[in-house]
Amino acid sequence: MNFHKLQADSIFTGTQILSANHVLITDEKGIIQEITDEKEAGDNIEKLNGILTPGFVNCHCHLELSHMKGLIPEKTGLIDFVFSVVTQRHFPTEEILESIAVAENEMLQNGIVAVGDISNNLLTMQQKKRQNLQYYNFVESSGWLPAIAYQRFERSKESYDVFSKDFSASIVPHAPYSVSNDLWHLIKPYYKNKVVSIHNQETIFEDELFLQNSGDFVRMYQMMKLDTSFYEPSGKSSLQTYFNQLKDAANIILVHNTFTKEPDVEFVKKARPGNAVSFCLCVNANQYIEQRLPPIDLLRKYECNIVLGTDSLASNWSLSILDEMKTIQKSFPQISIEELLGWATINGAKALQMNDKLGSFEKGKQPGVVLLEGTDVARYKSLLTANAKRLI
Ligand SMILES: [Zn+2]
Repeated sequence: MNFHKLQADSIFTGTQILSANHVLITDEKGIIQEITDEKEAGDNIEKLNGILTPGFVNCHCHLELSHMKGLIPEKTGLIDFVFSVVTQRHFPTEEILESIAVAENEMLQNGIVAVGDISNNLLTMQQKKRQNLQYYNFVESSGWLPAIAYQRFERSKESYDVFSKDFSASIVPHAPYSVSNDLWHLIKPYYKNKVVSIHNQETIFEDELFLQNSGDFVRMYQMMKLDTSFYEPSGKSSLQTYFNQLKDAANIILVHNTFTKEPDVEFVKKARPGNAVSFCLCVNANQYIEQRLPPIDLLRKYECNIVLGTDSLASNWSLSILDEMKTIQKSFPQISIEELLGWATINGAKALQMNDKLGSFEKGKQPGVVLLEGTDVARYKSLLTANAKRLI
């Protein structure tokens, strides 16, 4: 049996950073054997410059929208962005499949090993079956009008039936503003005891819709020519209105949280103590669409399980978890490399129920080994100069 023995300026284990005198040992397939002192590691140690880290987990992506790269202008706000995606997503299948393959390869190259991927259709299936990356498939259902709930559910169920044969899969709500009570009711059994994901409070208008049925969503429904006379606002924030619908899920991933406020976080922590709820940050997409950043210090104050996502190439310049960390570090330089890498690895693996294999350098796991070149913790305390390179 051949072993890889890797030594670098530091090793991030998934939970902590170890100094240069440690050696990571894996078998030839990358299954972790141990981390040991260099004096105990024997011969043939490969010496590298940078930080060794487990592979990254991308908790929120829409691989099927990869062909929309650069199509939608930046800074339009969410309402016009969503409208553009819905109306402009249709392309020849060949082009879509080609973009999916290119986008997946981009993730692979920059150190991503697993993806929580939103699917509205089966176009990504062929690529996913190649097993280059691990996938949790979130089959997304949406429909604001109660009258179309059953038809939309049936469509999601068809995709779910195919995905769930080969992959971890659940049917999930698209967003609070696009799922009627009738549709919630139909999809609930399909995320029970599984992972559920939802776009949460991505724009300021979301709370406005639930508090008083006003704001830009009313304009969006008009653009889509929907008769929304059935709708009664709850008088509460979006998250506090719908959160109870998710109670039977084993894990909950709230995506974006750009406009989540302190009472919302308190509410979630009280309703679901422990770490079953993850807050997924997609900061580059927020910059692309809304030019806002989520309240990261608030989430840290409440010790939330923070995870990272790229969202899709319709709303991002790259599918890179490292790029997401760089954007966070530019605005929040007080957050350590260790904490950021934890969000990018073990936290994401737990959120997607993949931490038996991924997320940390624990014996027996096969998390992928990534070298962050061009940085080292002691000298730079920053990832801004880093490049990710997949070693194993
Ligand atoms: Zn998204």
